[in-house]
Amino acid sequence: MSKSKCPVMTTSAGNPVADNQNSLTAGARGPALMQDVHLIEKLAHQNRERIPERVVHAKGWGAYGTLKITEDISKYTKAKVLQKGAETPMIIRFSTVAGEQGAADAERDVRGFAMKFYTEEGNWDLVGNNTPVFFIRDPLKFPDFIRTQKRHPKTNLRSNTAMWDFWSLSPESLHQVTILMSDRGLPQAPMYMNGYGSHTYSFINEQGERHWVKFHFKTQQGHKFHTNAEANEIIGNTRESYQEALFGTIEEGNYPKWTMQVQVMSEAEAEKTSYDPFDLTKVWPHGEFPPITIGEFELNRNAENYFAEIEQVAFSPSNFVPGIGPSPDKMLQGRIFSYADAHRYRLGTHYEALPVNAPKCPVHHYHKDGAMRFFEPKTGNVDAYYEPNSFGGAEQAPEYAEPALALSGDADRYNHREGNDDYTQAGDLFRLFDDEQKQRLFSNIAAAMCGVPDFIVERQLGHFEKADPAYAEGVKAAIDARAKEMLAAAE
Ligand code: NDP
Repeated sequence: MSKSKCPVMTTSAGNPVADNQNSLTAGARGPALMQDVHLIEKLAHQNRERIPERVVHAKGWGAYGTLKITEDISKYTKAKVLQKGAETPMIIRFSTVAGEQGAADAERDVRGFAMKFYTEEGNWDLVGNNTPVFFIRDPLKFPDFIRTQKRHPKTNLRSNTAMWDFWSLSPESLHQVTILMSDRGLPQAPMYMNGYGSHTYSFINEQGERHWVKFHFKTQQGHKFHTNAEANEIIGNTRESYQEALFGTIEEGNYPKWTMQVQVMSEAEAEKTSYDPFDLTKVWPHGEFPPITIGEFELNRNAENYFAEIEQVAFSPSNFVPGIGPSPDKMLQGRIFSYADAHRYRLGTHYEALPVNAPKCPVHHYHKDGAMRFFEPKTGNVDAYYEPNSFGGAEQAPEYAEPALALSGDADRYNHREGNDDYTQAGDLFRLFDDEQKQRLFSNIAAAMCGVPDFIVERQLGHFEKADPAYAEGVKAAIDARAKEMLAAAE
């Protein structure tokens, strides 16, 4: 019997452990015995402490919070989570895209902004970024794009050449590249950036009418960014600046908040826009589709266990609730498949049953066995293990059917670059920047182009030129200035 008041240490099977300091050996000098099951269990567990890290968005920081809806948008959606007065618990995970799990936080990169709302109608996941657009508009390009952000197969180093080669060959990336290289490409911490659902989604109201919608989450802490030089200094001191800032502010009781807004477009309006409203490389201009404030969320609780909660939390754009649905956005359609697939691989078949992912409402499905099936079948009756059945098992509920979506067109591989204006919105953003913002944009691009062959730089300058001649001129001047500086430093 343990003499202290602490609980008795056990093996994972619950057997008491008498000695956690000394292995079981034949004599003081050994050898060790295989019957030291405690030793074997400890070593075996350590070998299994890692799971595959996410291929993208591996480095992350998260917390729990509450979404509160303050305005009435029932004319657009019947989703209970979005009705005026609704309060819904949530978890959020922010992340960088390219860096591995041990990467430094203060790196220039797009930030993931993934939210899971535990609603009474099941989990609604909004898996966005801190940018309203993305580098590509066709999911077929995603694995290639990510290759260019990750390590070169031979050098095992990140490659500026690969990044700019791909971007310059994919003009649809220009809008997102402009955001990435601007101040918003390097926020000081998760509290100081906006979140965007990015894709176009759909709202369905009680009458079965559909509208298209974009989601925005505006930081109430204000935008704060680092320059490249500041970030280098920070990384020299700590690689975990985001974790420290987010965890710390919540521990101190300074809960960060974001205002939730939606932009709504009718199906008829979607036929008339000069741009494709389902194209992930485009925004809906605020002047045409004004953001409507509908509520806010606050982050107010840290996880107790980083791995169990923040690493194992699994977001998927396939998790919808009645009243919120997908759109034709090709990238969204691709992600609807690939996120859930990634989690089945990374966490296992029953990842949705892990406590952090489990819905807070009743769950009745007929999926059966598989690795780590640790939960009870909840079909209502042990004899109801298939469907349809005569034993009171869960049944479909036709009242949740979405209105039919009219689809038309010949199945073909349509050239997504043909007839698409990749330059106007990137130019609009550039023209929003003041002179200092423009100068930082130019020098960030010049730094990121270090070592890139001239023909690729020239090709990319051609894209900047089409967005705005002053954009190309500024980048060119920054490249020349940087070259002179490096020459002077080498002399
Ligand atoms: P508006 O002038 O009506 O909107 C400008 C929006 O641009 C602002 O509301 C703000 O978005 C965002 N913005 C302002 N400064 C910066 C900055 N330094 N870096 C990044 N974004 C900034 O014009 P439009 O709606 O026509 O948009 C013009 C350009 O603004 C777009 O081409 C796009 O690049 C960018 N933008 C547009 C958004 C949209 O949904 N329409 C959203 C974000 C950026 P926010 O309020 O979200 O901070």
